[in-house]
Amino acid sequence: MTMIGDKLQQVHARIVKACTAAGRDPASVRLLAVSKTFPAEAVREASLAGQIAFGENYVQEGVGKIEALSDERGRLEWHCIGPLQSNKTRPVAEHFDWVHSIDRLKIAQRLAEQRPSELPPLQVCLQVNVDGGANKSGVTPEETLTLARAVAALPRLRLRGLMAIPEPAPDFEAQRQLFLRAAAVFDQLRSAGLEVDTLSLGMSADLEAAIAAGSTMVRVGTAMFGAR
Ligand SMILES: *Cc1c(COP(=O)(O)O)cnc(C)c1O
Repeated sequence: MTMIGDKLQQVHARIVKACTAAGRDPASVRLLAVSKTFPAEAVREASLAGQIAFGENYVQEGVGKIEALSDERGRLEWHCIGPLQSNKTRPVAEHFDWVHSIDRLKIAQRLAEQRPSELPPLQVCLQVNVDGGANKSGVTPEETLTLARAVAALPRLRLRGLMAIPEPAPDFEAQRQLFLRAAAVFDQLRSAGLEVDTLSLGMSADLEAAIAAGSTMVRVGTAMFGAR
């Protein structure tokens, strides 16, 4: 077994254990392997070990890897998870399958205009700022439903749910409480009739607390590829 294959198994074991502890079906949580700063060969190694979904923060770097792995394009799923500036939306619309970090309507409108019609709709999540850091990205919980309705109405995009990156908390329970704020906004969207199914919460250090709070997709970098 390769080193990345080994790490992948360890991460899957953590997900299964966290789901069991939370009384959840392990199949209800997807693993997004965050390959930022790691080379295309590392992605290929993870892909050979069975991983399908990969997350990238920086548009140019991500597009480079998507192109380097073009022979695998039909099997792999590429997620853009970093902050998005409006002058960087076109390559995202043209190359990625998912975007997790939409925090304003203008970005979503540009992605909708720029998504090529021959591709399937771009799958999108809104990034919600659950702990109020003033210069953090993300829409406020209060503004999320309004933005979600507007994004859901755009062509060429499909609204899938929410993503959040709360600040690290001192312990499991404090971390879970922060994730639960995102889960509450997610429930609000569903109660309002939006057909969302994805709650993108949790990273290497806190995926257990995220799963306890209802995460359906954990974004794991360090625990899979090593320290950056
Ligand atoms: C880097 C990154 C991750 C992965 O973080 P690790 O701590 O390495 O698991 C997840 N989500 C986002 C948005 C990131 O930027």
